[in-house]
Amino acid sequence: EEDRIMQSEKLTTAGQLAAGIAHEIRNPLTSINGFIKLLRTSEKSNKLYFDIIESELKRIELIVNELLVLSKPEIAHVSKPLDVLDIIEQIVTLMKVQAAMNNIEIIPRYPAEPVYVHGETNQLKQVFINLLKNAMEAMDQGGTITLSIHQSDSDVRIIVQDDGIGMTPEQIKSLGQPFYTTKDSGTGLGYMITKNIVHNHGGSIDVKSSPERGTSFTIQLPVL
Ligand code: ADP
Ligand code: MG
Repeated sequence: EEDRIMQSEKLTTAGQLAAGIAHEIRNPLTSINGFIKLLRTSEKSNKLYFDIIESELKRIELIVNELLVLSKPEIAHVSKPLDVLDIIEQIVTLMKVQAAMNNIEIIPRYPAEPVYVHGETNQLKQVFINLLKNAMEAMDQGGTITLSIHQSDSDVRIIVQDDGIGMTPEQIKSLGQPFYTTKDSGTGLGYMITKNIVHNHGGSIDVKSSPERGTSFTIQLPVL
């Protein structure tokens, strides 16, 4: 238990530092973006170089935005009773179109009643966006994501299961280390943020995965 507290404090400090740096990087980034656009209009040659500069800038922006998620206020101050079912339905509606375009079906297994937990809506949304995004990115030939919610007297478990490329035991070990990614355009920050948010909600997250078969993430949160 003490270890867990230490760990979450460490993450918070690292998060604050990350957020501070991200803010500082954002302003010069905005002005560089502006001047590049300006230069593009007067300088007709070197299109390829401009394209590369812009795509690299986009990448920095992506990383900075992910780091900023860590700056969200501490859970204890903002947390209130929420229906996770409602949050998950909103996120699924949001991501269903993109999933369908990639031949991915999201299968819901929800209880009939609302499922109340203590939390912060935007942070919990971020958790499900990150997990669904990773599941989709693990299935570039299409597939199925099963999203189930189970409630007991003491906790709620949310399981996001995909039948994508899966992970080796080594990959599972590296999961959640800052900047660990196996993707060309990944940031390696999504899972670290996800884990951080779940822990701040007094919950835990577990992963089961095997190569070629798929991955399932189980989030456990205390019920109200
Ligand atoms: P990113 O998605 O930017 O790479 P994440 O922190 O979200 O960063 O994930 C880190 C790495 O964990 C991914 O690059 C991938 O190798 C692995 N991973 C996460 N979720 C899955 C999944 N559902 N299936 C297979 N691999 C996954
Ligand atoms: Mg990700």
